Amino acid sequence: MVDEANSSPPKRRWLVIGAGVMGLKVADELIAKGQDVTIAEAAPTVGGLTSAWKLGDVTWDRFYHVTLLSDSVLREKLRDLDLEDEIRWVETKTGFYAGGELLSMSNTLEFLRFKPLSLFQRLRLGGTIFLASKIRDFRSMERQSVEAWLRRWSGRGAFEKVWLPLLKAKLGDAYQKTSAAFIWAHTQRMYKARRSGAKKEMFGYVPGGYARILETWTEQLASKGMRLLLGHSVREIRKLDNDTDGSRQIEVDFHDASSQIYDCVISTIASPLIARQCVDLTEQEKQQHRSITYLGVVCASLLLKKPISEYYVTNITDTWVPLTGIIEMSTIVDPERELGGHHLVYLPKYMTDDHPDLAEPDDDYRERCLQTLEKMYDHFSRDDVLEFKVARAKYVAALSTVDYSTRLPPVVTSVPGLYALNSAHILEGNLNVNETLHLGATKFHGEVWPDFVATKH
Ligand SMILES: Cc1cc2nc3c(=O)[nH]c(=O)nc-3n(C[C@H](O)[C@H](O)[C@H](O)COP(=O)(O)OP(=O)(O)OC[C@H]3O[C@@H](n4cnc5c(N)ncnc54)[C@H](O)[C@@H]3O)c2cc1C
Repeated sequence: MVDEANSSPPKRRWLVIGAGVMGLKVADELIAKGQDVTIAEAAPTVGGLTSAWKLGDVTWDRFYHVTLLSDSVLREKLRDLDLEDEIRWVETKTGFYAGGELLSMSNTLEFLRFKPLSLFQRLRLGGTIFLASKIRDFRSMERQSVEAWLRRWSGRGAFEKVWLPLLKAKLGDAYQKTSAAFIWAHTQRMYKARRSGAKKEMFGYVPGGYARILETWTEQLASKGMRLLLGHSVREIRKLDNDTDGSRQIEVDFHDASSQIYDCVISTIASPLIARQCVDLTEQEKQQHRSITYLGVVCASLLLKKPISEYYVTNITDTWVPLTGIIEMSTIVDPERELGGHHLVYLPKYMTDDHPDLAEPDDDYRERCLQTLEKMYDHFSRDDVLEFKVARAKYVAALSTVDYSTRLPPVVTSVPGLYALNSAHILEGNLNVNETLHLGATKFHGEVWPDFVATKH
């Protein structure tokens, strides 16, 4: 019940499940409201998809991460951690691998010279991107398939030579059920990334990478009283109704067979896992969580003696290449200061969460990657590879299917005191840290906290 004296709700024991950036953001919000907060994280470290690992002597993110000038919520958090001033901003270049050639596509002039398309096709392609950047009504995009929308505006030639290979590289066959909101969100983010005056693409990173951000953030939370249970994988959540005084609590079972009791639980993990974990949700809620298709990723990190290109991203339209793209992180991150003088390249391949290749043995993926680089770059030699490591994640981003927003599971669940908030709730954007933090704050203030305040405790 709301405390009449100061009209703030009582302090309750909360468990946040998952210590990715969403879990940390929710913990921030709860602590700011004077709540007692514990975070349970299955992995031995915090950060989830943003966590770091060691590549030889170098510690850097398992998956590539950059910050955009327009990432205002993330930058505000970095300011709060005294790290924002340290961000290094670097102008980036984009490459395109098409027809066996590596082409630069970093500015409008290069775009207008793009050889694989006729001038008319280039103009239609450019017009489509411009149109997507101007549309404000995301629902109108979400109602139609990405294929239908792109074919309509870009025409058959540009669709088949550029969009289709890119869609297949990113989404596999799942592009067929993806809505136009996917391309809309991507275009909106990239347009925002260009500084309005210079129109340059600037990407940033904090020295030390996400490892440093996460360490500073968890220290800050711990100093405010947050408890962190690492290596604590939650197996099941059940409601406990106390018939004598009508109070409600939630029992949480961990995979190590221990159990704990909390007043409230907020789960930030992937939806199919929530459906399995929260046994008291209604069948409809479970079905809503289960029916979300996720994109997973297999992503190799290569530490190299030499750079392979000048491009941060190389998009690929040649369908024989078994990669979504090539990310040369050391075009942004300073090799001397951060990478022991070496160069860092990521080779991601996205696929739906049920794809058998998510479990492809590391050695097979390694061989495919090296053969691909040898074919694409004359100067590449496998002797230049100092370290090669493969990271995998089954649940990365919810696939933006047609009418997706109409089928989302609720944040405030049917179980009193149990909330389910994860990145699948991002609607008007693609998956990134800024959107995740923004969602964490807005849904917390818009749905979780009002429900908590209104509920009789
Ligand atoms: C390849 C790749 C590149 C990316 N590039 C960028 C980029 O350049 N810029 C950018 O801003 N964003 C980027 N992102 C996106 C960014 O990483 C995500 O937006 C963000 O990390 C999502 O955080 P989250 O907390 O929602 O999810 P997660 O990070 O997935 O966190 C969920 C956490 O829950 C834990 N968990 C799962 N099950 C249990 C359980 N049973 N019990 C306890 N804990 C559990 C997991 O271990 C994990 O730590 C990229 C992501 C990937 C994969």
